[in-house]
Amino acid sequence: MTVFEMIVARKIPSHIVYEDDLVIAFLDIQQTTKGHTLIVPKEPYENIFDMPKDLLKHLIAVTQKLAFSIKNAFNASGINLLNNNGVVAGQTVFHYHFHIIPRYEDDNFDITFSNNADQLNEDDYKNRAALIKAALS
Ligand code: 5GP
Repeated sequence: MTVFEMIVARKIPSHIVYEDDLVIAFLDIQQTTKGHTLIVPKEPYENIFDMPKDLLKHLIAVTQKLAFSIKNAFNASGINLLNNNGVVAGQTVFHYHFHIIPRYEDDNFDITFSNNADQLNEDDYKNRAALIKAALS
């Protein structure tokens, strides 16, 4: 049983902010920023690759609703949505979830993308795009 299933089943305490038949949202215990919230499907799908499409659509629709509420509740200046899939991507709980992370001036939460553009030429971009497009079909 994942820790999130235990939250769904009320086997461990949490601060639930939203619940319906399919998804549940509660405060992340770490509160990386004020109001940091997790939204998870009640069924323990492990990652984005396992998520049924309709459930994913519902989850993202509720995520938008929560993003509005969290932004308004704390007067946040922005929101990051984060979803880690796989150990290498930083996933530690193997039950699908989105982090909804409200952002404030000087909140010390740092997401920076490394910029490798200076190591690539036009062919590198073309090859990478071609590989993705081929895998889509
Ligand atoms: P991940 O690293 O898998 O993307 O995120 C897992 C998140 O689950 C972490 O941010 C962590 O703080 C949160 N978490 C882990 N255990 C618990 C718990 O027992 N209660 C709550 N509310 N959050 C938890």
